Amino acid sequence: MKKSILICPRCGSDRIEVVLPHIGSTYECRECGYRGPMIMGDRELAEKLKTRKREQEGEEQPI
Ligand SMILES: [Zn+2]
Repeated sequence: MKKSILICPRCGSDRIEVVLPHIGSTYECRECGYRGPMIMGDRELAEKLKTRKREQEGEEQPI
């Protein structure tokens, strides 16, 4: 059985922290600082997102 984890939709990290629990479930990614709803998934999905982010970054040309 695969373990469900919270994944950052922006960078694919699973280093997620709950912030401001009194206003609801707000999560923050400790990796990229993204704040908002997270994706429920597994390690496989996390790796996919990480790969996608790397590819996107590779396409961007630094000025
Ligand atoms: Zn992130």
